[in-house]
Amino acid sequence: MKDDELLCVKCHKPVDVNREYYDIFEKMHWICFHFEYEHDGDPDKACNDPSCPWWQINTYKEALIKLGKDPKKIIETEINKQFSPLKK
Ligand SMILES: [Zn+2]
Ligand SMILES: [Zn+2]
Repeated sequence: MKDDELLCVKCHKPVDVNREYYDIFEKMHWICFHFEYEHDGDPDKACNDPSCPWWQINTYKEALIKLGKDPKKIIETEINKQFSPLKK
């Protein structure tokens, strides 16, 4: 462990991205803080907080569908692009 490393009290992994907010987020990752204090109900399901990652993913999905795009297809295409054995 480095001297200046900050560890999340919830998941015990290093906090990098939100170092500046370490105290505000009660010494946690932002996402750990959200699931600990803000998220209502099943963590695998969106809550009513617009900052919730699930809420945001669902909002993007709905917007894509309205644009006539299939969110599943977009993910499949990206998986094929990034994990195709032909790609080097
Ligand atoms: Zn964490
Ligand atoms: Zn949430």
